[in-house]
Amino acid sequence: MTICFLNGNYLDIEDAKISVLDRGFIFGDSVYEVMSSQDGGIFGLNDHLDRLEKNLFEVMIPSPMSRDGWREVFAKLISIHEKVDLSFYIQVSRGSAPRSHSFPRDVKPTVFVMCQPYVRDDEFRLVACITLDDNRWGRCDIKTTSLLPNLMLKNVAIGKGAYEAILVRDGYVTEGASSNIFIVKDRQVLTPSTDHNTILPGVTRKLICDVVRSIGVVCSEREVRRDELLSADEIWLTSSTANIVAVNMLDQISVGNDSRYPLGRRIHKAFRDYKVNNLLSF
Ligand code: PMP
Repeated sequence: MTICFLNGNYLDIEDAKISVLDRGFIFGDSVYEVMSSQDGGIFGLNDHLDRLEKNLFEVMIPSPMSRDGWREVFAKLISIHEKVDLSFYIQVSRGSAPRSHSFPRDVKPTVFVMCQPYVRDDEFRLVACITLDDNRWGRCDIKTTSLLPNLMLKNVAIGKGAYEAILVRDGYVTEGASSNIFIVKDRQVLTPSTDHNTILPGVTRKLICDVVRSIGVVCSEREVRRDELLSADEIWLTSSTANIVAVNMLDQISVGNDSRYPLGRRIHKAFRDYKVNNLLSF
């Protein structure tokens, strides 16, 4: 049995229903978050809630709940599921109203939180990726559920046996279809900057930058050219569910000048420890 939260109620997921007029369903008029719990605590909770609130503000959906309200929901779901490690999916849509492009007035946002067991993968993984043209919209900083462009790109990659599509816009690397990207060159770490709204400001991205800097390695946020990717010593992808993985094949060519991935392995371990020490418990 999986219990979810829908508009103030805790329900079996099979019994949770929303209107077909919900604007999340009709337009993808909604934002979302994904995060995980470990040993009953949530990692990066405040960062995820900061981003959720910023996204709600950007798309002009009124914030449906206080910080304490959100904490109560997560605490309750963790307790209901007997503290097994969980991944949470949170979605807030503008709500249900007769279909119209104009934003309706006085509708209540739909608030949905579901969770499922999260199996931690402590291996440092090496994956194959392909590069694709980043043909998404100009507000990739917003974590909207309108993910069809990302899904299409990701599925081209999957169709070619790859783990992820690494996206390139006008010669510059942006991010993966569902991850952020880092490269290592000459013992310095580089990641595309968030300045131009072309990438999602990943929570893992931010925390990996902190971990890299905490061990005295330079981590710069700036534009990264496609050719820098091809000549990198290491390439990493980060996300809340996969943490940090390394890319060893790109477009069927071996990449990463240092095939032992020394810095990636070190950061992978440091990040795992950092998570354990920074869980927000209830
Ligand atoms: N970029 C995109 C497009 C994503 O969908 C995600 C999340 N899956 C990320 C980056 C990584 O963000 P986070 O570290 O917050 O999970």
